[in-house]
Amino acid sequence: MRLSNGEVLLHYPLDLHVLTQGWYYNNGSLHQATDWRTQNGTDYKRPVYAAEDGTVDQTQDWDGHTKTGMQSYGNMVRIKHAPYKSMTLQTRYAHLSSYCVKVGQKVKEGELIGFSGVTGNVFGAHLHFEVILNDRRTNPLTWLSDDFTLATGKEYTFQPGEHSVVVPDADKPAENTSQNKLQVITIGPVSQGDADAIYLLCKERGLTDAGLYKSAWA
Ligand SMILES: [Zn+2]
Repeated sequence: MRLSNGEVLLHYPLDLHVLTQGWYYNNGSLHQATDWRTQNGTDYKRPVYAAEDGTVDQTQDWDGHTKTGMQSYGNMVRIKHAPYKSMTLQTRYAHLSSYCVKVGQKVKEGELIGFSGVTGNVFGAHLHFEVILNDRRTNPLTWLSDDFTLATGKEYTFQPGEHSVVVPDADKPAENTSQNKLQVITIGPVSQGDADAIYLLCKERGLTDAGLYKSAWA
């Protein structure tokens, strides 16, 4: 999304924000991208989301062989976003097991574009995520919030002058609005067992004593 100061805050492409390889690989060589954990037990197919509104401008189908060059990305999607300071801004999602968008298709930020996988030149399942500005790759972590952890458990070290996106106060969700609004939830009919369970939960949270729990049959 575009912030009020003109900067860009990208949406994380996965629901899990665990970085396995950064701008530099853990061995120190240049990666020019980020790798994100997708493994969940034996399952590695996680939904992959568009980082911002845009148009799919490239897709690739893996030929089933690991090679250098473009095929090393495996199944891949690239999205072109609105320009940033008159420069072309694109994001790339690689090693997908499958994707569900077509070139030319408009996507919304957070929209499902495919599923993570182990296609292309990989040693294990992960999502390879790039941010490309005027055909040059830039550190994706400088386009994301600081809401991530490292697989190593260490703190990420940015290059001098680089940092996570700082969200201006004006763009932060207002507090004391939706969170504090009272909602009414009407359920039922439910079994006596379910009703008892809900009553117990409400009692535990002090909602019955505070008069916030009402049952039609109480
Ligand atoms: Zn990678």
